[in-house]
Amino acid sequence: MTSTPFSDLPLPAAMLDNLHDIGYRQMTEVQRQSLPLLLAGRDLIVRAKTGSGKTAAFGIGVLLQLEPARYSPQSLVLCPTRELATQVAQELRRLARYLPNIKVLTLCGGTPIGPQIGSLEHGAHVVVGTPGRIRDHLRKGTLNLERIRTLVLDEADRMLDMGFRDEIRQIAAETPKERQTLLFSATYPEEIGRLSQDFQRDPAEVILQEAP
Ligand code: ADP
Ligand code: MG
Repeated sequence: MTSTPFSDLPLPAAMLDNLHDIGYRQMTEVQRQSLPLLLAGRDLIVRAKTGSGKTAAFGIGVLLQLEPARYSPQSLVLCPTRELATQVAQELRRLARYLPNIKVLTLCGGTPIGPQIGSLEHGAHVVVGTPGRIRDHLRKGTLNLERIRTLVLDEADRMLDMGFRDEIRQIAAETPKERQTLLFSATYPEEIGRLSQDFQRDPAEVILQEAP
């Protein structure tokens, strides 16, 4: 494996300093292969095993796209479970420490919807959530996805296993067509290919393991 420092990428100095502070010096393999494509604006399909650093791979791209002065959701990350959404939100907040006032909001089921609506009214730059609860907010009109630039489907294979296909479809339909769509998966069943065809434009593929 090649070892490549984050400083090889055209990243803002403040982001590089923060990566250094949180102990990220070298890119992991998935980051090394994905980030240049992601920063070039490509849609991506990434297949790599758990623990390979996929969150920072999309997180760095997501943060670079944000307009901090605009308090409306610009990135939406869909995750299969509340636990995973919570972990992703934590990692994004750590990566965003160099940016003052960036709000990362978690919207998952199993918790009352009222406080979430209140948080949305205060504004958020990044929303991380589970498909069911995100769809509930869309139905209620409490979440507006018109400003989304990046849509991330994290653990897409698990979301399909859990039967979130229709929710993902309904959610993607509410985001702008010219968004960047990033699909992450540990496995690559045929259905992932169909999901990609429906939601991505000319995606680049980063495959770090053979199909099981
Ligand atoms: P995945 O989503 O692929 O399962 P995660 O994004 O959860 O992986 O990352 C796995 C672990 O690796 C986390 O503890 C994260 O903090 C750490 N990590 C990610 N990128 C780096 C890096 N470049 N250098 C050091 N540790 C990293
Ligand atoms: Mg992950």
